[in-house]
Amino acid sequence: MSAQLLDGKVLTEVLKENLKKEIGDIKSRQGKGPVVVSILTGEDPSAISYANSQKKIAEAVGIDYRLKNLPASVSQDEFKRLIHELNCDQAVHAILINKPLPPHIEYSVLVNNISDVKDVEGLNLINIGKLFFGKTKLVPCTAAAVMEHLRFAKISLRGKEVVIIGRSEIVGKPLMLLLLAENATVTVCHSATDAAGKLVEHVRRADVVIVAIGQAGFLKGDWVKPGAVVVDVGINRVDGKIVGDADYESVLKVAGAITPVPGGVGPVTSIMLMKNVLEAFKQKILN
Ligand code: NAD
Repeated sequence: MSAQLLDGKVLTEVLKENLKKEIGDIKSRQGKGPVVVSILTGEDPSAISYANSQKKIAEAVGIDYRLKNLPASVSQDEFKRLIHELNCDQAVHAILINKPLPPHIEYSVLVNNISDVKDVEGLNLINIGKLFFGKTKLVPCTAAAVMEHLRFAKISLRGKEVVIIGRSEIVGKPLMLLLLAENATVTVCHSATDAAGKLVEHVRRADVVIVAIGQAGFLKGDWVKPGAVVVDVGINRVDGKIVGDADYESVLKVAGAITPVPGGVGPVTSIMLMKNVLEAFKQKILN
């Protein structure tokens, strides 16, 4: 058996076209469209490259993407003042803080200074609280991308055993809530599950396994139940190549479906961010 590929590039194209159409329609009705300000601090090459790729995607779907550069020497208070100005600016619908940040800048504090309706990463406490109650539309983008993959492939989650490996604030924890909302039976495993020698037994009973730990080739094919769906969130650089957290070749032989790396969850994450920008605009303008 060889697994069905859950191709992120195909899904991204579909989502991009839908978004482009919706934004185009809104612009022709309203005479304006969504504006996002993306804050880039210092000159970290990975942050610059990420911001450039966001800009390309944003512009492709009709979002006005404005980059705001701050020097690496910016103070936390100056950063907060900028966020306050952007919160008050009626022409700005969405705010993003690019990472990595200089060590003296605390992301977790700043993200909570962003107005919850402009927090398109869905990571401030109000949006996390709304997620808990199933009420937010600004869902953390990577978790939203995983859910979009499952929805697009029509993988039913009701009553299914889903095992998430990794409990980070940006992936594992929000996914746990999103999967519960879809009536899955969710188990969240982490480093202590593995240290206790319990990880493989959890993975073996899963209908869907989602791995997000940042260790190349960690999830092995012989842990996976035949026919299970494997969603690989990991992005690891090995010998100049990007690989996931699943041992792709061995998992491919056993799983019913798998997201490749690269080209699986990653590209969909970027488009989910743009979906959140549109959502922030709609909440402000259309409600
Ligand atoms: P993190 O580093 O914040 O957390 C890692 C998690 O993995 C922790 O909860 C830890 O307990 C768990 N873990 C570590 N070793 C383990 C083990 N041996 N067994 C079980 N659990 C273990 O991770 P993160 O920020 O969620 O990122 C995880 C991976 O996902 C990374 O490769 C990252 O690059 C990637 N990522 C991809 C996207 C995307 O868009 N595709 C977005 C965000 C993160």
